[in-house]
Amino acid sequence: MESYAAALEMPENDSVKWRRWGTWGVCAVWVCGAGCSPSTETTQAADAPRYAAVDTARLLAAGEDEQAGQWLSHGRTYEEQRYSPLDEITTQNVERLGLAWFADYDTNLQQQATPLYIDGVLYVSTAWSKVYAFDARTGKTLWQYDPKVPGEWAVNVCCGLSNRGVAAYDGKLYLGTLDGRLVAIDARTGQEVWSVLTVDRSERYSITGAPRVVQGRVLIGNSGAEFGVRGYLSAYDAQTGELDWRFYTVPGNPADGFENDTMRRAAATWTGEWWTLGGGGTVWDSFVYDPVTDLLFIGVGNGSPWNARYRSPEGGDNLFLSSIVAVKPDTGEYVWHYQTTPWETWDYTATQPIVIADLEIDGSRRRVLMQAPKNGFFYVLDAATGKVLRADAYTEVNWADGVDLDTGRPRIRAQARYQAGKPFNALPGPQGAHAWHPMAYSPRTGLVYIPVQRAWFPFVEDEDFQPQPVGYNLGVHLGAPLTYYRDHPDEPRDFVGYLKAWDPVAGREVWRGEENQGPTGGALATAGGLVFQGGGSSQEFRAYDARTGEKLWSMHAQTGVLAGPISYELDGRQYVAVSVGGNQAGGYYAPNYSRLLVFTLDGKAQLPPTKTFVPRPLDPPPATASPEVVAAGRAKYSQYCAACHGENGQTRGAMFPDLTRTPLLHSQERFDQVVLKGALSARGMASFAQVLEPADTQAIRAFIVARANDMKQASAPGASGAPQQAHR
Ligand code: CA
Repeated sequence: MESYAAALEMPENDSVKWRRWGTWGVCAVWVCGAGCSPSTETTQAADAPRYAAVDTARLLAAGEDEQAGQWLSHGRTYEEQRYSPLDEITTQNVERLGLAWFADYDTNLQQQATPLYIDGVLYVSTAWSKVYAFDARTGKTLWQYDPKVPGEWAVNVCCGLSNRGVAAYDGKLYLGTLDGRLVAIDARTGQEVWSVLTVDRSERYSITGAPRVVQGRVLIGNSGAEFGVRGYLSAYDAQTGELDWRFYTVPGNPADGFENDTMRRAAATWTGEWWTLGGGGTVWDSFVYDPVTDLLFIGVGNGSPWNARYRSPEGGDNLFLSSIVAVKPDTGEYVWHYQTTPWETWDYTATQPIVIADLEIDGSRRRVLMQAPKNGFFYVLDAATGKVLRADAYTEVNWADGVDLDTGRPRIRAQARYQAGKPFNALPGPQGAHAWHPMAYSPRTGLVYIPVQRAWFPFVEDEDFQPQPVGYNLGVHLGAPLTYYRDHPDEPRDFVGYLKAWDPVAGREVWRGEENQGPTGGALATAGGLVFQGGGSSQEFRAYDARTGEKLWSMHAQTGVLAGPISYELDGRQYVAVSVGGNQAGGYYAPNYSRLLVFTLDGKAQLPPTKTFVPRPLDPPPATASPEVVAAGRAKYSQYCAACHGENGQTRGAMFPDLTRTPLLHSQERFDQVVLKGALSARGMASFAQVLEPADTQAIRAFIVARANDMKQASAPGASGAPQQAHR
């Protein structure tokens, strides 16, 4: 990391009127380069550049012409349409698009963040909850912030060590960290202003989502429904970090008393002792404020454990799992809810990106919110009331026969509710028909651009389910694909992604882009008639004609492209920026090509050539263990290892090491130093000594050795397949 000299020349700042000087002058601290002491403190001059000069008025005006060149918040405006009104780059000239500059990141883990662009500076978070600030004119790093997340906390993170973005307000950036902190960072210096712990560290919470700022409050949720937690959204005072309100999404133990009447009513939709298992309902990605209705819409996640028969054995809808809940932004008070999936049992979160728009529906102009949640149905809800206006399958689904618009309930197929001895090969699986990858809406075309996934998963009940202090608590076998598809070779099992243009009013597909293995990237729509989107494992970043789906431009990014792109204007020119990283050949061991890429017309920058990379060979020791030991190892592996390292020991994303190729296979002692003694905990591999004994790790190693020998025998062709991509 380089510290940046005060010689920075900021662009002419046209946002003076948005500034609130009173909160700045006293505590301003310059970061000094050559020529002054780093500890020098000065009062900021009136004509000095300002950083993250965003207040409530400016956020509310983000859709106005004077903010057209900015990207002030996660989805650009409060409506989160991810639509840029900039139109210098068009369908006619996009073939001239080239790289203006790029900046390398220090981690090759998966990059999921949407950058912010504010008055000449790009702010972007990366894996391990780090943040960069770049001078948008030069690409120079202004500062980098590292919250120093303890590596061993990674064991409490379901789906990669990623972060999806920061929020900006009144000179500060706000960041949620993997280990549950909400941090305010001085946008000019990168120094921490305040930090609060938003979770109980005795529970396995984490944060990967981007905060939002509404009416001077920073909103932040969390993850952890795969482990056994109770979900909630919190609102903190943006200046002080003081907790203002908290909305729980599922009820707690009735014996402790309910927080409010809403929780009392929700508890009537649960059975058994769900609170001992957490209940779930984490708010890990989408919570969107609508200034028109003055409501905050909260996307609520899946049940914990997944298997509803363990969580709420006598049935019940289990509010507010898999729901969108509207609350008042100043108090967190409940207003309405819509539940997509009653008695949820498939990890069908309703946390996917929410987009607000004005649509012409059934002859009248309606203020609506739209979501394409994991369950495969595209919902259009009246923003004021939550009434469901449209609920059409936006891709193939086999768990329900549609949604009854009168009751709002899905017609769930009986066989989809898997149980002991009756597995169900589900589409979508827990990866979802759409995950976190941002969708975009263009008011010009009236179309929504959804990064769709076709991802199967066989739900096989874990008949011996007992809550565990380490690892997943699902009530289903996460490693089931390995055995289920072996025993049912004709069952479909593909996992591909592609971009789909969807007419939200007619409820039909208009066009789709080409498929790539695994998930596909987030979308950006522009007034130039374009949709920008990454091809995931295809490592392509491309522009489609927003109306026809014709691919007009693409470039090879050298690594996976999954995050949401943005567009902004600087010195009268339009730029497109996207964070890239993940899903590259060679996975975790591959060279690091994670970067911020910034494009403009006639950009001439070139990425350096890729490095020569020889993947680690499959070189396991001989498989000598008995079939019984290998089977025991497979069961333990499935429970504790598969989530990160893949169902068969082979991770194809760049998130975790491929265990079939690890040198640790050659020594039980070294294997145990990592698995039982936490030798690599700083890098994210915690000790599993709480739940595994030496006999277990011997069996696990025997299983991986057997797998690696099988694969070596099958030789190269067997190595093709979908990247292992976790759900959330
Ligand atoms: Ca989940």
